Amino acid sequence: MDLPSSTHPLVFSMRHFFVLSLALNVSFILRSVFEREQGLNWFGFESEKERITQRTRLSVSSSHSSITTLAEAQDSGERIINLDHGDPTMYEKYWQQMGDKTTVVIPGWQSMSYFSDISNICWFLEPEFAKQVVRLHKVVGNAVTDGRHIVVGTGSSQLYLAALFALSPSDASEPISVVSQAPYYSSYPSMTDCLKSGLYKWAGEAHNFSKEGPYIELVTSPNNPDGTARHSVVNRNKGTLLHDLAYYWPQYTPISSPADHELMLFTVSKSTGHAGMRIGWAIVKDKEVAKRMTKFVELNTIGVSKDSQIRAAKVLKAISDTYEHVDDSEVGETFFDFSYHNMAERWKLLREAVEHSGMFSLPKFPPAFCTFFNQVSEPRPAFAWLKCEKDIEDCETFLRGHKILTRGGKHFGVGPKYVRISMIDRDENFIRFVKRLSTIRI
Ligand code: PMP
Repeated sequence: MDLPSSTHPLVFSMRHFFVLSLALNVSFILRSVFEREQGLNWFGFESEKERITQRTRLSVSSSHSSITTLAEAQDSGERIINLDHGDPTMYEKYWQQMGDKTTVVIPGWQSMSYFSDISNICWFLEPEFAKQVVRLHKVVGNAVTDGRHIVVGTGSSQLYLAALFALSPSDASEPISVVSQAPYYSSYPSMTDCLKSGLYKWAGEAHNFSKEGPYIELVTSPNNPDGTARHSVVNRNKGTLLHDLAYYWPQYTPISSPADHELMLFTVSKSTGHAGMRIGWAIVKDKEVAKRMTKFVELNTIGVSKDSQIRAAKVLKAISDTYEHVDDSEVGETFFDFSYHNMAERWKLLREAVEHSGMFSLPKFPPAFCTFFNQVSEPRPAFAWLKCEKDIEDCETFLRGHKILTRGGKHFGVGPKYVRISMIDRDENFIRFVKRLSTIRI
């Protein structure tokens, strides 16, 4: 479960905030001019890598400025830095900047019926939400939607269970095996086996799967926790694939082509950062599978919150509008530009910190062409899959000793030398983390 971090700053009055922000911004500008002249980065050690583009520096650094200075001033190594959960609070800043563009007012008499569109297989799917899902996929070019069925869920977590229900044979003598290549998303095993279903059963690492007969293989691409692009590995007949594409968005990875799989899961939690809305959607080729998934959600929760679907539609619409120039008013930075530059800057800072410390290593990702940004770029995953080097066997415990909370490799089906670290937390928490990491020595 994703819980908010406990490391929020003190609450200031608006007046205090403006005065502080002004002072910090001035100090940052002076500092950034100094650093640019000196070729230093934010930690004060020399950057050996290519300088980020002027555009990135302007758009990202200005948003980090006060946070960076604040974090540097305050981190005494005592405060707990919790990056265990993938709570997407990094995105709050963008939506704050958008002001009322995504504010939704719902009158008391609205959204009262259980039903949204009884002509649709997924009868609780709000038509406006479905429209904006299709539109955003067309804008981004990351999934085929023509001729597909959309099923909405309370987060893609509910749709994961709905998909297992729909893909499992109902008349089998034993539960169907569910496998995934390690390291896999840590919630899959517990979600699969939580109710000890007679329909499906977690069977672990896909590479070790040797049983004859039907199976379901989960393919998460880009993968949580390690950010790699994934394909199925079992490749036997009688296998059914379930593609979890929660992170197949341009801020995290180059978009190579519209994904076109039998069953694909997406979520606002990681695309727009609205995890609290609890909205996910499945894009399904097969009509019978879409019907069974709909049945599962009906049996569980008799549909999905209309209020949340209406709000999600508004957020997705705001993103597409800025790319299709529907809205003539001052747009500001577009959503994927903001998130791409933030992720790129964070990965750059993390790699510098890892290099400076000499105690850790990170995966390297091959650059690829992104059809959305029309340029070649490296993946910038939502999680860092950090390996402790030297003689450190248990990386999670080692980092906990430095008051940095992460999730250890064993939760993902691998060894304890690895940890998963959220890259999508608030600026303050993230900057404090990289600063502390860069100073760690044995
Ligand atoms: N799949 C993957 C790979 C995820 O990382 C997550 C969120 N951590 C989910 C599914 C669940 O997303 P949601 O918040 O939509 O339930």
